[in-house]
Amino acid sequence: MARVFNFSAGPAALPVEVLEQVREEMLDWHGEGMSVMEMSHRGKAFVSILEQAEADLRELLAVPSGYKVLFLQGGASAQFSMVPLNLASDNQAVDYVNTGSWSKKAIAEAKRYCQVSEVASSAAVNFSRVPTQQELQLNKDAAYLHYTSNNTIFGTEFHYVPDAGTVPLVCDASSNILSRPIDVSRFGLIYAGAQKNIGPAGMAIVIVRDDLIGKARPQTPTMMDYLPQAENDSCYNTPPTFAIYVAGLVFKKLLAEGGLEAVEAMNIQKSSMLYTAIDNSDFYQCPTELASRSRMNVPFTLANSELDGEFLKQAAAAGLVTLKGHRSVGGMRASIYNAMPVEGVAALVDFMESFARQHG
Ligand SMILES: *Cc1c(COP(=O)(O)O)cnc(C)c1O
Repeated sequence: MARVFNFSAGPAALPVEVLEQVREEMLDWHGEGMSVMEMSHRGKAFVSILEQAEADLRELLAVPSGYKVLFLQGGASAQFSMVPLNLASDNQAVDYVNTGSWSKKAIAEAKRYCQVSEVASSAAVNFSRVPTQQELQLNKDAAYLHYTSNNTIFGTEFHYVPDAGTVPLVCDASSNILSRPIDVSRFGLIYAGAQKNIGPAGMAIVIVRDDLIGKARPQTPTMMDYLPQAENDSCYNTPPTFAIYVAGLVFKKLLAEGGLEAVEAMNIQKSSMLYTAIDNSDFYQCPTELASRSRMNVPFTLANSELDGEFLKQAAAAGLVTLKGHRSVGGMRASIYNAMPVEGVAALVDFMESFARQHG
């Protein structure tokens, strides 16, 4: 069996050790005689899996008391609606930073319920950078400030946490959660789809401050109200049990590797290798501004875009797959989340150098 290096933006590569453990436990989890997929979500075995996953995530992110951790369905996109439904009253003012496709989707949902101000936008430069704190035109009366900490499609990342004053800060951290330590106490709510840095698709993780729970507007569907989810420890209905189990294995692995400081050091190393290779060549170019470059998603273009197809073909033949860039940026995109080993990035850099020699 040959595993490739998978540079997909999501669903993305998972740690091979986690996949092996899942295989190991597939038919008989810890002597229960059944798979996690077949277990009651109210039974002792699964409840222990859920509790351990939550405890490990809390430890990884040093989540302070006063925050709930929820494992929900509907991916990150369901949060685009749940955030305005739960955190703002009808037509209340809310602030959004527009840094690309996912921000725009979040804004479009919020506009159904709230008065949205775009407090900064990098649309004029095709989202090749994120705004600085000074550029944010914040509204003191906003119900919250929403931003996207890593822009998966455009390859930009906030390397600072915006200061929203007393306004609750809401973050879509889908594509860089667990890639570096963060100070959770700065946030009102953090959410992330699981399929980039956590586990199987279809689940979102929500970390929400207690005082923001229980204020959903009356017409909010029960499934989209944080309160019943929090009161029932993410088991208001049947939760995504298998996704929670796999996520729990990923959390354990990150803790065993030294936690998020160690993960961050690895991500700095991997992304520097790739950006250095791009910057040192005339053959490749990176469209993003230096100070905004993402450690997770690295877009780059070839000097001659007519070679794109050949690049992708030869890369795939070398076991380096899913490198095609998003259509709104063009060229290539290498997504190098936590589970991409440094050997994968080294193999990509080697391939890029040899391709450039061949065609430069
Ligand atoms: C992938 C992604 C989403 C969408 O996630 P779904 O789980 O498909 O809803 C939202 N925001 C960001 C930043 C993403 O990278």
